[in-house]
Amino acid sequence: MEAMIRRYCRDHHHSPELCHECADLLAYARKRLHHCPFQENKPTCGKCSVHCYAPQQRQRIQAVMRHAGPRMLFSHPILALLHLLDGLRKPRKQP
Ligand SMILES: [Zn+2]
Repeated sequence: MEAMIRRYCRDHHHSPELCHECADLLAYARKRLHHCPFQENKPTCGKCSVHCYAPQQRQRIQAVMRHAGPRMLFSHPILALLHLLDGLRKPRKQP
């Protein structure tokens, strides 16, 4: 998650460190993940049955995913592969 947001920020905001906006988004994503009932068993966000992002943040996250997703294959192949495998699992019903 963090790697993707960093990548997005570098390409879009041309800032060497996370800009304020992207740091906010990362903090938000972490907080949501922390509260997510799926935790370790969480499917990828696109398939998550719990819509844990507020609409505005969700749009921003999706923009990050669209931008960084394909590029992650090259810069972080292992991470991307694991995420891909995660995506193949079916989301479980909320306990
Ligand atoms: Zn940024």
